[in-house]
Formats: sequence, structure tokens, C-alpha cells
Amino acid sequence: MSQQIHPGTLFLVATPIGNLDDMTFRAVHILKTVDLVAAEDTRNSSVLFRHFGISTPMTAYHEFNERTKGPELVRELLTGKSVAVITDAGTPGISDPCYPLVRLALEAGLRVESIPGACAAVSALILSGLPVHRFRYEGFLPHKKGRQTRILNLKTETGSIVFYESPHRVIRLLEEIKEHLGDRQVSVSRELTKKFEETLRGTVTDVLQKMSLKEPKGEFVVVVEGLPERKKSHEE
Ligand code: SAM
Repeated sequence: MSQQIHPGTLFLVATPIGNLDDMTFRAVHILKTVDLVAAEDTRNSSVLFRHFGISTPMTAYHEFNERTKGPELVRELLTGKSVAVITDAGTPGISDPCYPLVRLALEAGLRVESIPGACAAVSALILSGLPVHRFRYEGFLPHKKGRQTRILNLKTETGSIVFYESPHRVIRLLEEIKEHLGDRQVSVSRELTKKFEETLRGTVTDVLQKMSLKEPKGEFVVVVEGLPERKKSHEE
């Protein structure tokens, strides 16, 4: 069923994280129907647009222009235009631009709707084999300052912990987890929904051993077992 669009609505539209078949019908409909699409990278998104026959005007909205672009988009919305936000991949706002715009839109009394779809964190979590009833999303750690403190702060977290990491730092992240949180159960998912999708599971030592066979390539999500409840009282 095609959705009627309320004028002045901001849509947060999830796009695939690799496999274009994961685009939802609703996402395509919304992107075709809104007045303007705010994309993290208009060049990347033009590939998606071509694939799905979308010709809606696009404008760039990313972390480097969000302070000026956000208010501009809100002004457009207040005139009754509808705007969709998309990022390079996955769900806007999850380690991607969108949060400041959502705040501005809500403060302006505008309607905001999400069009759900792919999110690497959720796929990796449900694939991990680790408890999913409670989890903590950590996203990317800072590269230098504050990195160790962020990991140490997770020592007593009892829910599963989800990290995003680049191929250059994924081994380092696993070594840091082992050093600061212990040799816990982890899962490392790479290239989810793509041709070379793979998930490695085991203790950090096991997974590091498996990963030492080839250079890490692609996009990674690391999920770490939380501290067992019975151990928490000892740590505190
Ligand atoms: N908004 C996105 C989402 O909903 O997952 C995340 C965007 S963030 C800038 C990019 C990071 O997400 C990558 O560095 C990687 O850690 C993770 N990621 C995105 N796509 C992935 C995939 N297909 N497989 C594994 N990890 C992925």
C-alpha cells in the first residue's frame, strides 16, 4: 500500500548495507514521493537512485555541513515540503548523520517518521549467538584520546556490547578487549549482506587466531559478551 505523505514531514529512511535487494518497497516509495532527499553523499546515493528509478532532487547533508544545512532543511519543511534523510548505508542516526536534524525538526514542531530497514549493528547482534535481550551500542570508539577509558567503562556492562570498527583497527580492538575486559566470547561479522559475508565466533583468542590467517578487509561489527551477572558483584 502506498503511503500518503503529510506535508512538512521529515522521513528517516534506511537504505541497504550492501545487498540492494534489502531496500524496502516503502523506502523506494518515500524517496520517489518526497520533495527533497538529504543524502550524506549525493554521488553514492545516485547509484541507489539509478537502480530504483528515483529522480527526486538531492542535497548534501553530512557531519561537515549539518550546522548550516540542518536549519535550512527545517525552513523547507516549515513551508510544507517533505524531506527524506538517507546516509551511505543503513539506518540514519546509527553512527551516521541525522540526530541534530531530528532535534531541530522536533523543536520546530514538525512530524518525523522512520522508514526502517538494514542496520549492521542489529544484523551482527542477532547473528552473534550472544544474548540479545539486552545490549549496549558503542558504535565507533575514538581512535586515540579516550579510547581506553571507553573500554574500561564497559567492564561491568552485563548486556552484549556492539562496536563498529574499520578493517585497519579491528585486530587492535580485539586485543584491547582481551586486555581490558578479558578473554570473552565475541563475534566478528564482516561484509554483512555482501558476497564475502562472514561471522567468526569464539573467545577473543580463538577469533584473533582465525583472523590472523588473512588481512582484515571490508566492514566490521564486533559483538562482545557482557559480564555475567554473577561476576558483576565481584568487579564492583
Ligand atoms: N548507519 C549504518 C548502520 O545502520 O549500520 C552504519 C554506518 S557507519 C558510518 C559504517 C560502519 O557500519 C562500518 O564501518 C561498519 O562498522 C558497519 N557496517 C556497515 N555496513 C556493514 C556491513 N555490510 N557489514 C559489516 N559492518 C557494516
